[in-house]
Amino acid sequence: MKLVRFLHNGSALKGVLEGDEITAGSTGGSERYPLGRVKLLAPVEPSKVILVGLNYRDHAAELGMSVPEEPVIFIKPSTAVIGPGDTIEYPSSSARVDYEAELGIVMKKRSRNVPAGKVKDHILGYTCVNDVTARDLQKKDIQWMRAKSFDTFAPVGPWIETDLDPRDLSIRSYLNGELKQDSRTSEFIFGIPELVEFISGVMTLLPGDVIATGTPPGVGPMDRGDEIVIEVGGIGKLANRVGA
Ligand code: MG
Repeated sequence: MKLVRFLHNGSALKGVLEGDEITAGSTGGSERYPLGRVKLLAPVEPSKVILVGLNYRDHAAELGMSVPEEPVIFIKPSTAVIGPGDTIEYPSSSARVDYEAELGIVMKKRSRNVPAGKVKDHILGYTCVNDVTARDLQKKDIQWMRAKSFDTFAPVGPWIETDLDPRDLSIRSYLNGELKQDSRTSEFIFGIPELVEFISGVMTLLPGDVIATGTPPGVGPMDRGDEIVIEVGGIGKLANRVGA
């Protein structure tokens, strides 16, 4: 099932996408909306977006880095989240802003200290995330807070796919239509059960919180005016443009 949020007459509605049609429930029944006629929003409003650093074997090899013993995690604020079709703002304080294609986990319920074997019950579904990063500021600051946290630096969407085995999905990015990243989630260093166990052992995860699971090889810079598309097999495509 594909869960969407969308704008209709100025209000945000939640619905289920089937083919090109959204069904949105209300107390009086359900209504249908053609996908092409609505503005999709980010499919969730997370309290936080948690991201995993190096998590692809092929990316570690590309960087000449050893495989980490534990996940390295960081947070983007909820204010960084934007939806499909929204504009990524290029900060004036940066001269290099990169895309990072990532599979996003969307949490279903309040989760604290979830053992790996029970993680499945805590996941609502999966979506695409672009971990937009001001690479120059990341290097300059040493720690990553500023580089990862600008408003609009967390495109999420276009929807949440609830029926998906995430263990071997294609993950790709296209910059202005040109393939830039092309890997599979089977390259993960830490699998989804291990990641959720680890992160929920650090902090309480709330319904709608998003965990972005790291990016494969091929990250690179975007320019003003570029279109960036993140595509995860079995989910779909998340497209955004870089503004001024
Ligand atoms: Mg990343």
